[in-house]
Amino acid sequence: MTVYLFKPYPIQSIPTKGQAVRYPINRLFFVGRNYHAHAVEMGKPVDKSVERPFYFTKAPQTLCASGSTVAYPPETSNFHFEMEMVVAIGKPGFRVSQEKAHELIYGYAAGLDMTRRDLQLVARDKGRPWDLGKDVEHSSVCSEIVPMQGYIIESGAIALEVNGQTKQSSDVNKLIWNVREIIADLSLFYHLQPGDLIYTGTPEGVGPVVPGDKITGRVAGVAEVTLTIGAAK
Ligand code: MN
Repeated sequence: MTVYLFKPYPIQSIPTKGQAVRYPINRLFFVGRNYHAHAVEMGKPVDKSVERPFYFTKAPQTLCASGSTVAYPPETSNFHFEMEMVVAIGKPGFRVSQEKAHELIYGYAAGLDMTRRDLQLVARDKGRPWDLGKDVEHSSVCSEIVPMQGYIIESGAIALEVNGQTKQSSDVNKLIWNVREIIADLSLFYHLQPGDLIYTGTPEGVGPVVPGDKITGRVAGVAEVTLTIGAAK
């Protein structure tokens, strides 16, 4: 038996809909600028004919269960919501073709990529890493995972409200790089593994929250995700 200096931190996991087992988390991948209208609102339009998708990662420890209340995070005055469809990988794959990408899919979830936008934009514009803007404690919010093995979601409403007021409303058929393309491309860089979540990007309408706000988002046919913003600590 391995003896550790201190108790190791537990593996992060998410409930699966209709099943007693939980989905254990390996890695958290995020696609950047994957809806045209969001890319434009960020001042960085995308030309798919000459660009490839790009990614950032967050530590698995940033995972946060839907329904949580999280403190407004430190060192920001512009904490943003980003509503995203999440793909849960269930089988290993490396250099997977688009035609076979569906074979890796375990299911889908509704997620929030909470972001310190002020710090992200400073980092972006200075050519620095995005970690302080993106790898925020409790910022990778995820609903239960809905098993849909081998199924590609091509369309469906994606929307978010803050305190009941609609802020984001789009359709996952507007993804610049769709689910097949993302899995195939990401698998060129990483040996994808069961437990890898891919947040597929947010549509337009991102914006700030303040303590007391309640965020409600959903991907039609998948799940709802909620988050309440608590006071800063
Ligand atoms: Mn995002």
